[in-house]
Order: sequence, then structure tokens, then C-alpha cells
Amino acid sequence: MALDIATKAAVQPRSVTILGSTGSIGRNTVDLLLRQPNSFRVEALTGNCNVALLAEQARALRPRLAVVADESRYPELKKELSGSGVEVAAGREAVVEAANRPAEWVMSSIVGTAGLQPTLNAVRRGAIVALANKECLVSAGDVMLNEVFRSGAVLLPVDSEHNAIFQVLDVDQAQHIERIILTASGGPFLRMSAEDMARVTCEQAVDHPNWSMGAKISVDSATMMNKGLELIEAFYLFQVPEQRIEVLVHPQSVVHSMVAYVDGSVLAQMGTPDMRTPIAVTLGWPDRMPAPAPRLSLAEIGTLSFEPPDTGRFPCLRLAREALQMGGAATTILNAANEVAVHSFLNRDIGFLDIVRVVEDTLGRAPKGPLETLDDVHSADVSARELARECVSRLSGPH
Ligand code: NAD
Ligand code: MG
Repeated sequence: MALDIATKAAVQPRSVTILGSTGSIGRNTVDLLLRQPNSFRVEALTGNCNVALLAEQARALRPRLAVVADESRYPELKKELSGSGVEVAAGREAVVEAANRPAEWVMSSIVGTAGLQPTLNAVRRGAIVALANKECLVSAGDVMLNEVFRSGAVLLPVDSEHNAIFQVLDVDQAQHIERIILTASGGPFLRMSAEDMARVTCEQAVDHPNWSMGAKISVDSATMMNKGLELIEAFYLFQVPEQRIEVLVHPQSVVHSMVAYVDGSVLAQMGTPDMRTPIAVTLGWPDRMPAPAPRLSLAEIGTLSFEPPDTGRFPCLRLAREALQMGGAATTILNAANEVAVHSFLNRDIGFLDIVRVVEDTLGRAPKGPLETLDDVHSADVSARELARECVSRLSGPH
């Protein structure tokens, strides 16, 4: 299978689709495609509402289809791309339709559960899916993996930690893996007291010290819920029990993650913090392709440091572990409550420390049924969002 794909890539350009091309991961993917225009042919690009950027990308990459999810933006996109030969569509259904188009490789980089249905559709038709969107595995892990096994799709992790593990995990030795060690930068508030955290602003929360990312994941990094979501993501991707997935704070973001084997060997993947490297690992797969990330100079960095996470000041990590232990719909609930809470924080309705309050309250109150079908996922997600919104109104109501 891998050999077939490699041979094919050598003779014809790989056809690719980017779901969420206007976001941080999407833009980095576009950057790589533009550096090797002869190696790729673009089938579809999708964005939510940034029509100007989507049109600019479409003019540069000449996809067959460009889709804006916000239907009201259709006339604008149509006008921008008139005469370009690019087919234009709008709306949620059109985003799903873009995922159905026959691209061999699909980047799943829509943020949040909005990415679930399009990603599932790409999986169902057996595509190579580069998965940046972690929320869909957290929310619908088993449902998604069942579809992957059924369709023969290939899931390639883009998240830097999981991409690192993917690179150093020897699948033939899976029974000899002792631990997976996920590294975490610790985010912008690593050294801040809980008292000061109560007063941080949105601007401070989205200002990550090492990585440049979208607003939602930046806030997740600040609460360290990002590492909680990644713990769950690793559990599904690598099928390693939760107790054997460790989190280690590493403020320099050079070691992207590690795998420890039973013989005492620990294999790490390193690099500067630039998402174009993990994206390139998936875009060129099974070959390697060039990527322009600044080169790593350990001599310049001098010292790498590691420390255990402080789950007292960053309780989201504990909540994610608890959700994974509860099983069933618990991780769907955790994810939905977190999406509502982060959205409300970015809207300035609640404070930074309220995010974890909303998640904990919702996780405690929402019914945790089994999670077997997409309908189960959907109903757990909807009811958790309702409870989370109620909690937000309690916290943001008149004092
Ligand atoms: P972003 O906010 O910068 O971009 C999100 C993209 O999704 C945009 O193209 C936006 O137009 C689109 N989108 C948003 N809502 C939509 C909707 N309702 N329907 C259709 N499209 C919609 O986010 P990002 O930082 O690029 O992150 C994308 C995903 O990748 C997230 O799940 C994040 O956790 C994951 N991820 C990101 C990074 C990173 O470095 N940015 C690293 C690892 C994982
Ligand atoms: Mg990550």
C-alpha cells in the first residue's frame, strides 16, 4: 500500500483538499503547496468567512472548488473568483461536499466539532486524512476509528506531539511500548499564580510564547486543556492506556514528544516549533519532503528543561484524564463544554478561570450514556452544550 502511493506520487501530482484553508494550519499547508506547485493538484479549499483570503489562495492554487461555510458570503466569493475557472459554493453542506470530492489527501484543519462531519466523509471514502482537528477524535474517537478501519482510510496526525510519536513509534513493536510522553510548553501562564490567572485578558491568553496558532487552541494551551485533549487524542490514535500516557512540561518546545520502550530506550522527535514540519511529514507521506522551518541548533538553545505539570493550577489536565476513565460520552461532553467555555471567554462573557468551572460543572451534570453511533455523539454534544451555556449564564449573570 505504502509503495503504491510512493510510486504514484512520483508520476503524478498528489491531489489534495484543505478543509479550513484560511486558518493557521490551513495557511501553513498552503505555504507548503506553493513551494512545490508541480507535486500537488488542489481539488478543494474551504474557509468559514474570510472570503478575501480564500479567494487569494484560490487564485494562487487554482483548486477545482472553493467553499465558504458562511452562506451569506457566497456573492462576495463568486465575485472575487469570477472568470478564474474555480467552482464556487457556500454553506455547511457544501463544506461536506468538498470533503467528498476525490482528493487523495485531505487536510482536516477546521477548528472544533464543526470539522467532524467533513472529516468523517473524507475518512469514509478512504482518503489519506492529515488530522489537525483534535476535537473530532476527542468527541467521537471510537466512531471515527471504526470508520477508519471500515474504509481503509489512512489517518496521519498533524498535531506536533502526535506527529512526533508517529515518527518514532515502531508499530511492529507496539507490545513493547512502555509509555508515551507528551511534551507541553505550559502556555503563557506557566509561572503565574492562580490569583493572577483569574484576571488575565483574552489578548494575554492567545499570546502563546512559542507557537503561532488560532484563537481557540491558543486559549486551550493557556488552560492546558490542549494537553488534556491531546492525551485523549493520543489514547485513540496509538491505543495506549491512559495510565501509560505521561505529560511533561518542556517550555522550549523543542522535543515534540517521546516514546519509551521496555528496554529503557526513549525515542524523541525534535525540531523548532513550526507546524510546517509536521504538516510536511503528512503531505509527503510515505516520503519526506522539504519544509522551510528554521533549523534546530541545540548549541544555540543550550539547555532543554523538563518538569511535571502542576495539575493544581491547571486542573483541565485532571479533568481530561477523568473523562477518559469515565468512558462513553464523557470525552464528548468535556470537548463540547470546553468549546462553549472558550467561546464565551473569547466573547468576554466569563473570566479565564471560569473556563475550567464550566467544563467541570458540565462534566459532572451531563448524562454519560454509551457512545456507539454518530447520533449518540450528536446528542451528547448538544445536551452538554446546553448545560455549559446554562453554567456560563450563571457565571456571567448580574452579580
Ligand atoms: P484557526 O482558527 O486558525 O482556523 C480554523 C479554520 O476552520 C479556518 O479556516 C476557519 O475558517 C475554519 N472554520 C471555523 N469554523 C468553521 C465552521 N463552523 N465551518 C467551517 N469552517 C470553519 O485554527 P487552527 O489554529 O488552524 O486550528 C485548526 C485545528 O487544528 C484545531 O482543531 C486545532 O486544535 C488543531 N491544531 C492546530 C495547531 C496550530 O498550530 N494552529 C496545532 C495542532 C493542532
Ligand atoms: Mg499539539
